[in-house]
Amino acid sequence: MLNSRLVPELEIPAEVTVGRLIAAGDSPPPKDTKGKQFCFAFHCKGACNTDCGRQFSHRALSKADIDLLGPWVTAAKAKLG
Ligand SMILES: [Zn+2]
Repeated sequence: MLNSRLVPELEIPAEVTVGRLIAAGDSPPPKDTKGKQFCFAFHCKGACNTDCGRQFSHRALSKADIDLLGPWVTAAKAKLG
């Protein structure tokens, strides 16, 4: 399924896999405001599938959620250079 409202701050380049992004992070990825894991494929790559174990996260993020995830993604992207 496609994320039609991709947040530019969370987007990662096509050549960067979610696994690489998570490995580049200084700390484990943050959980969302409900304490659930973000789906990085959906929010950073713009697409995921219906078998995903993080389907709860397949939704437009609130500003509070973006404020949690955005800085972490930005820092991890910076480390990837
Ligand atoms: Zn997903």
